[in-house]
Amino acid sequence: MLKSMSMLRNQWRKYALISTALFVLWAGLGSGGAAGAKGRDELHNPLPSPAHSLEPVSGRTAAVVIDDFGNNMAGTEEMLGLPIPLTVAVMPFLPSTKQDAERAHQRGHEVIVHMPMEPISGKASWLGPGAILTSLSDEEIVRRVNAAIDEVPHAVGMNNHMGSKATADRRVMRLVLKVCKERGLYFLDSKTNYRSVVSEVGKEIGIPIVQNHLFLDDVYKESHIVKQCRLLEDHLAQHDSCVTIGHVGRPGLKTALVLRQYVPRISKKAAFVHISYLVKKQQLQELESKTNQKK
Ligand SMILES: [Zn+2]
Repeated sequence: MLKSMSMLRNQWRKYALISTALFVLWAGLGSGGAAGAKGRDELHNPLPSPAHSLEPVSGRTAAVVIDDFGNNMAGTEEMLGLPIPLTVAVMPFLPSTKQDAERAHQRGHEVIVHMPMEPISGKASWLGPGAILTSLSDEEIVRRVNAAIDEVPHAVGMNNHMGSKATADRRVMRLVLKVCKERGLYFLDSKTNYRSVVSEVGKEIGIPIVQNHLFLDDVYKESHIVKQCRLLEDHLAQHDSCVTIGHVGRPGLKTALVLRQYVPRISKKAAFVHISYLVKKQQLQELESKTNQKK
């Protein structure tokens, strides 16, 4: 047990160093077109992002997730060009699904499947193709989750698009999370319903679950997004980490702009990390507490 714990710890450290180094490399090189120009600007005007330093001063972490990629949404380029490691949630079966996932991956961001799941209310057309509905059979749910994972290249996790009804349904979430476990994916609960059973079922099945703490742009106004960034700072003053979700699409350009302004301030308080960093940390902590219980 001790041996596997130190192996896991080493793997986790190695992972943190490699992911940071890769992101620094990407940020330094820039990439073609408009993003390349931004990359070069950053070299002249480097933001004090902890993505550029290996250890955050405080040990605190902030994970920024951006949802709704895959449909050539507004703000796609602006988000992918942000000077921080993002977790990019891409919807399956849409016109730019593969392209957005590939571009995000090339730029050092983490890719996850943004799985359309049934809401309590809202139009079915907002869901997108291949959605998980509570009326589906077990077999069809398993088939759709597998098909969505196959559709999004480089995916290492999944989160829910909408899903206030599906994430509160035990049968549905058992099936979804079992497939994620089989395929080696973590699940990020976007928390569109406070009655979500994701954490509970995740524990039962033994799959890492991370939860969203804060939506950045649930109201599409710049003043609201600024307010949410301040809440993110407040959260980090009191907690070790904060997971926050923004969107491309209607608020995309505004959210990218406000995030870019807030990166220097937030990076004084915390290191920006991918969700998988939090997953690995969580696994290590669980293993350590199990080992301590045995002593
Ligand atoms: Zn979404």
